[in-house]
Amino acid sequence: MDKNIIDSSGRLIPLKYKIPKERIGIEKTLKIKGIISSKSLFSNAFKIFLENLININDELKEDIENFSSRKLTDEKKLETLIEGSIDRVVDQEKKEKIGEKGIKKIKAEILIEFKKMRKKERMEQFNKIKDKSDSMLQLLADFNENRKEDIEVFVIKDFYICKNCGNLISINRFKKTNCPCGETINKIKNVDKGSISLLDDNVEMFFKKDFWLEYGIDYMLQKNSFKTFCGYSFLGSSGVYHEIDNMAQKSSKNKRVACECKNKRLSLKDAIIFNNKIKDLGINNGYLITTSSEKANIDIEIFCDNSNIKIIDSVLEEKEEIENIFKKM
Ligand SMILES: [Zn+2]
Repeated sequence: MDKNIIDSSGRLIPLKYKIPKERIGIEKTLKIKGIISSKSLFSNAFKIFLENLININDELKEDIENFSSRKLTDEKKLETLIEGSIDRVVDQEKKEKIGEKGIKKIKAEILIEFKKMRKKERMEQFNKIKDKSDSMLQLLADFNENRKEDIEVFVIKDFYICKNCGNLISINRFKKTNCPCGETINKIKNVDKGSISLLDDNVEMFFKKDFWLEYGIDYMLQKNSFKTFCGYSFLGSSGVYHEIDNMAQKSSKNKRVACECKNKRLSLKDAIIFNNKIKDLGINNGYLITTSSEKANIDIEIFCDNSNIKIIDSVLEEKEEIENIFKKM
């Protein structure tokens, strides 16, 4: 038989499946493995920790983008600017008094001051990036300590910065180059090195797409003797594949269930789409699960009631409820 078919020794109809590209391999990466096996995954503490982490990480990425893309003012243009302002402020009579040498000296001094200021500003910008990165490290360390966990979520990136002007030279690998400030960068001592921690790409996707919630439900189902498939796509009778957050079956009881997980308030659209999917797959036990404590509105309730879909809200606070449902099946 095709190995991409789930079947059962009982009375369940076989189902053909595909694993969506973005899911392939994700469970096997060490960091995700650690998160999935964490006992804190299915908890409000984890949700809050995640939200904080994602917020800081998003800001950090934007700051890094700004820092990397900022161009240095062209040296020649700068000199013209200084010359122009000297011309405006100092009239001919004064100029003669100061003398050509004096004017040159003033120009040079303004240029030095400007460069100092520019470097200071860029280093301040970089230090802000560092502070944000440090605050994420602290957040993770606190979480791990409080929950007695040992999860890892970051990648470390090394930033190489021109010592002369504060310009970003390269990330992760030291490169020889000419800095726009005029400095030749060919020795490691020409740069300052700073390490920044960011969320690992897989981890970011795992968090942002709410896979963490799906794996939390997956764990609940497994705990209650279900064989589970998290995030697979299944072929419906219409000839179309449908992605299902949690598909699970208990062959001995001829039971198959599908869950849709939302980390936000449910909408009628969510309910209708989910209903269409599971009916096309021939599944009669559907669960619409949400972390939101806001009660679903009456339209959604009526629709789900008439479609044999159960709504479970505040799922992180009321784990026993879902646990009992899965246990009794
Ligand atoms: Zn430079």
